[in-house]
Amino acid sequence: MYGLMQDHPLLISGLIKHAAANHGRREVVSRLGDGSIHRTDYASVERRARALAEKLQSLGIGHGERIATLAWNTYRHLECFYGVSGMGAVLHTVNPRLFREQIAYIIRHAEDRLLIFDADLLNIVESVADEIPSVEHFVVLCTREALPASTRLKLVAYEDWINGRGDDYHWPSFDERSASSLCYTSGTTGNPKGVLYSHRSTLLHALVTVQADVFALTSVDSVMPVAPMFHANAWSLPYCCPMVGAKMVLPGNRMDAKSLYEMLSQEAVTFSVGVPTIWTMIQGYLQETASSLPDLSRCLVAGTAMPPAIRETFKTKYGVTAVHAWGMTETSPIGTMSTLSAEVAALPEAQRTEQLLKQGRVPYGVEIQVRNSQGQTAPHDGQTFGPLMVRGPWVASGYFKGDGGAVLDADGWFPTGDVATWDKYGFMKITDRTKDVIKSGGEWISSIDVENAVMSHPAVKLAATVAAFHPKWDERPVLVVVPVEGAAPTKEQILEFLAARMAKWWLPDDVIFVLELPVTATGKILKARLREQYWHHLHDASS
Ligand code: AMP
Repeated sequence: MYGLMQDHPLLISGLIKHAAANHGRREVVSRLGDGSIHRTDYASVERRARALAEKLQSLGIGHGERIATLAWNTYRHLECFYGVSGMGAVLHTVNPRLFREQIAYIIRHAEDRLLIFDADLLNIVESVADEIPSVEHFVVLCTREALPASTRLKLVAYEDWINGRGDDYHWPSFDERSASSLCYTSGTTGNPKGVLYSHRSTLLHALVTVQADVFALTSVDSVMPVAPMFHANAWSLPYCCPMVGAKMVLPGNRMDAKSLYEMLSQEAVTFSVGVPTIWTMIQGYLQETASSLPDLSRCLVAGTAMPPAIRETFKTKYGVTAVHAWGMTETSPIGTMSTLSAEVAALPEAQRTEQLLKQGRVPYGVEIQVRNSQGQTAPHDGQTFGPLMVRGPWVASGYFKGDGGAVLDADGWFPTGDVATWDKYGFMKITDRTKDVIKSGGEWISSIDVENAVMSHPAVKLAATVAAFHPKWDERPVLVVVPVEGAAPTKEQILEFLAARMAKWWLPDDVIFVLELPVTATGKILKARLREQYWHHLHDASS
């Protein structure tokens, strides 16, 4: 027997309809390419998203067809999130920081029919234009007056495109399992692979993500996603904020500390999300300028492990709670959040802190499993580390067009490629990427633990630990350090510092000082490159 409740599909258009109807005057504030600040609200975003949807319909864009964006976090990009997905097409957010060849590859692979982009990214678009034959229209997110000149491409202005449209457009209803958006993973090897979200997965993920134990978002929040909309949908904030009616603050392409600080302080941001390097940069700025962020109550730190110093400095100096989370493009992205549970809240402070520095516990909807070396479930002892598996209604079941083959195991678990422990409180801790773990004499050394330890040294700005070939132990850790400006730490000082913080056999065999580390398109240290570079380092150094 079925229940007798109304059967409304969970559609992305429903979010912006709700925001327009119930939080219509709630602001959406954006930094534009010229540095100016633009203000709009949810009622206007919904109206203009409808105009975009109608325009796409008039061009014959059909259900499930892909539309690419190459754009920063602004209100126009937000309108694309709703206009494209809302009319039944698939929003493909392209990361402009990828290599040119990768951008061309993923647009070709996705067979995008349109490319909508920010004017300052024109040179990237021109450089790939000959290699993306599926793209029929090049639309610039600007007015006709601001349309850049291009000798190679016929460009149209977004504002011209949507002008005068949308009044009679009604959001269509369709199967909630329909594809809504597409995001390629920033794999460090091979071609990027497409993660294809559905309306249902996006809505379920957002419903859980706004919860008090996750992002804790309400209509009184002012929220700034520093995480880009092209990286796992800015960690769902373009959906969560309209869902609860929170104000949105969108930093555009200005990612320097001063610009971000201005947005955070002038728009009274209460909650923000970004990778650790962003928060380290902002803390540096607060320190240098003797300023503070009185409205900011919490910030989410994810993407790579949160160095303990970020949490400590925010807490003690600025009254901000830095919350650690783990996720991946394939998990929409929220997998775990490090928020208090009743048991952890009752622990003495030092232990509580230790728990909150882990990647956290799952919200309803996500299941995780840590496997031991025999492939069985590892004990909840906080010690045994092994491959982390995940499953749930917003976890990928495979990649677009079947790339990578069948990715789930027989029980539907997705292998994350991360190595983790879990403990008796249900808290998961990432100890490494499968590829980055250092296998020394059959035992595993966590590169992240070594990095976290060294990052609390005052002369260390950035660090990476990678495996180097060793004739006796197979692999031994080598530490690559970028010192803070003006500091000149020695190898002996660093090793002495680490010796007080870890087992002797974990200590790196060498410390190498460099001016910078290579990073991926999503701001993560490119360990694969470092590994290649230093694989023979110990052998070379000893010969
Ligand atoms: P992406 O799909 O680009 O977001 O990358 C996902 C990967 O980032 C995960 O599989 C982890 O390896 C890494 N990651 C994300 N959050 C964290 C975190 N809090 N600590 C350590 N690694 C993380």
